[in-house]
Amino acid sequence: IFSKSSKPDKAQTSWKAGEPVPYAALTATFSKIDATTKRLEISAYLTHFLVEVIEKTPEDLLKSVYLCINRLAPEYESLELGIGESLLMKAIGESCGRSLAQVKAEYKKIGDLGEVAFNSRTRQKTLFKSKPLTVRQVFDELKKVAKTSGDKSQARKVGLIKALLAKCEGEETKFLIRSLEGKLRIGLAEKTALVSLAHAVVTAEHAKSGKKWSRERLSSELETGAEIVKSVFSEIPSYDLVVPALLDNGIAHLQEACQLTPGIPLKPMLAKPTKAISEVLDRFEGKHFTCEYKYDGERAQIHFLEDGSVRVFSRNSEDMTVKYPEFVTQLPRAIKPHTKSFVIDAEAVAWDTEERRLLEFQKLSTRKRKDVKAEDIKVKVHLFAFDLLYLNGEALLEKNLRERRALLREHLQAVDGEFAFAQSEDASTVDEIQAFLDRSIKDGCEGLMVKMLEGEGASYEPSRRSIHWLKLKKDYLQGVGDSFDLVVIGGDYGKGKRTNVYGAFHLACYDPDSGTYQMICKIGTGFSDEALKTHWETLKPLELAQKKAYYDVGGAKGPDVYFEPKVVWEVLAADLSLSPIYSAAKGLCGDRGISLRFPRFLRIRDDKDAEQSTEPEQIAEAYRRQAIQSGGGGKKRKGG
Ligand code: ATP
Repeated sequence: IFSKSSKPDKAQTSWKAGEPVPYAALTATFSKIDATTKRLEISAYLTHFLVEVIEKTPEDLLKSVYLCINRLAPEYESLELGIGESLLMKAIGESCGRSLAQVKAEYKKIGDLGEVAFNSRTRQKTLFKSKPLTVRQVFDELKKVAKTSGDKSQARKVGLIKALLAKCEGEETKFLIRSLEGKLRIGLAEKTALVSLAHAVVTAEHAKSGKKWSRERLSSELETGAEIVKSVFSEIPSYDLVVPALLDNGIAHLQEACQLTPGIPLKPMLAKPTKAISEVLDRFEGKHFTCEYKYDGERAQIHFLEDGSVRVFSRNSEDMTVKYPEFVTQLPRAIKPHTKSFVIDAEAVAWDTEERRLLEFQKLSTRKRKDVKAEDIKVKVHLFAFDLLYLNGEALLEKNLRERRALLREHLQAVDGEFAFAQSEDASTVDEIQAFLDRSIKDGCEGLMVKMLEGEGASYEPSRRSIHWLKLKKDYLQGVGDSFDLVVIGGDYGKGKRTNVYGAFHLACYDPDSGTYQMICKIGTGFSDEALKTHWETLKPLELAQKKAYYDVGGAKGPDVYFEPKVVWEVLAADLSLSPIYSAAKGLCGDRGISLRFPRFLRIRDDKDAEQSTEPEQIAEAYRRQAIQSGGGGKKRKGG
């Protein structure tokens, strides 16, 4: 896979063993990746670069990987790059001796701030050449930028960026600015980076061993290596831990070295939607399964560490401990003696203490996310635990759900109004499931989760949207299908009475493979005046001067104004149809894209960030299922 053409060729991109990796070597790799759309080539370019890093300067591997995925720390530490475009334009202008107006005008013309910076630098006459940038230097400086806060932080950030820009040569400028924008835009998905990392380690280990492997053997070792790294990473999603462990222990011992650890959130197992009880039974025929209430709250992965501390993580591995300070005092009441450490999967649901009943998600979403003081809490939260993933020093992921559930109940206990186990029933017929579903809805839940209890598929599969967990929501049963979580990428200004708000919104899904936001529908109806005002207040500060280069609106006209990809809405649609205009899931069901018909706003999903919106593959899957149910035409009407 390593053709000659994948080798960096410029003098400044090579370095001697033991020397810091030049930033130019990394950006030369980015350029090659940018020039292709073929996944195998992208992976090969990156692998080639990483092999060289491992062989010559392994201490720079971690920082190199971080710059490739454009992150500075594990996801759960929430240390974000992503500097607003106005700040970047200011830094570019000041660093390259151009006015803000000139930078703005050029950005409007070419739509890529990286290119604007590149052009500005190229035009600039420099008197002396500074020392070439290194990967570690860029990483450290970017981290400083991200960590700068407090008094005059904007000015200090601009200062740091300007100093870095002054040292950039050629294409480095472009990629540095894109890193700062929060998006490299070279089509390098994190999944691909992870596979390349694994391939690089296998390749370097193989070269070092001096053994000769056949082509088949090499390809099978690469594949196994990638599977191991992906699986370890979903259990312990921290490059800070995985990369050094790979270098110290090699692929073969990675799993022993990196295991689920309380304090580090694992990626949660996800469920597939189903449209009818009969579909559940078809999937689970002859298997042992269980039905649980599907609570309508927020997922909470709760870690109880041996030192007695409690950490709460969201579905996206965001640290929510400060959002739920009450858990720190409440949880110990639910722990039985001899339980030293654990990780549970649970749903946090708003709770009416007087009427002793569950409240809808909207109530929960009124709670503040930051700086919450236990004494100020108005909306009480009840926890419903449905899984146990780790107990007293041991990961339980390989055990089946029946065993995990038994251990959960053995080591924790219900506390009135605070903590309980998810209601469950091992129903097995349509009537039994229907009766349990009706009860769940009467009790204020969204429906049921149906899960494999024993046998193959009953283990906990981190990060997988698994067919061994099925969601059965009351909404689906009305024939409308699953809802979609979509990113608001643009808005049209209102007309007539509504000139002070947006009158319509343009929505997109995120494709993690290409790093693009693909337009799927527009919503312009069904909003109250009050809702429109709230959306205006949220979205107005996110207005962009320019369409992002990674927004793919297909053949659509596009909105009056584009937004930063920050706001996620849950949307329900009558059905899906193939679209000659929109670009969502293009190529997955023929060469047309897919659009939502009669989309309707359900709620804001502030527990999801833009890159966690519904993926094109899920949209394609929903379309295919609809096509099957309507007899192959894919044009099923609502109500069916
Ligand atoms: P997804 O999490 O599948 O991407 P989503 O965030 O829109 O989609 P839903 O489609 O509503 O969520 O369903 C899955 C979520 O249901 C879980 O992530 C979890 O927060 C919640 N949930 C409630 N009760 C349970 C339960 N008993 N078992 C598992 N999850 C449950």
